[in-house]
Amino acid sequence: MSIRRAPRGTTALDRLRDHYTDAERVCRQCGYDDQGGQWSARTTGDRVLYRHVCPSCGAIETRTLALK
Ligand SMILES: [Zn+2]
Repeated sequence: MSIRRAPRGTTALDRLRDHYTDAERVCRQCGYDDQGGQWSARTTGDRVLYRHVCPSCGAIETRTLALK
C-alpha cells in the first residue's frame, strides 16, 4: 500500500474511502469499470460500512471494516 500525504482536513475515513474507490471500482459481476464511481461510507460505532452499486448491472458490493 502506498502512503500519500493527506490534504489538510482529510479524515481517516476519507482516506479509507479513497483507498476503496481506487482499488475496487471494477464490478465483479459484469466487469464494468466505474471510473467516476465512489464507494459510499458510513459508520456504525465501531465499524465502517462501504457500499458500491454498479451503474451497469446494479450489483451491490459491500465491505465492512472494523475500527477497533
Ligand atoms: Zn456490474
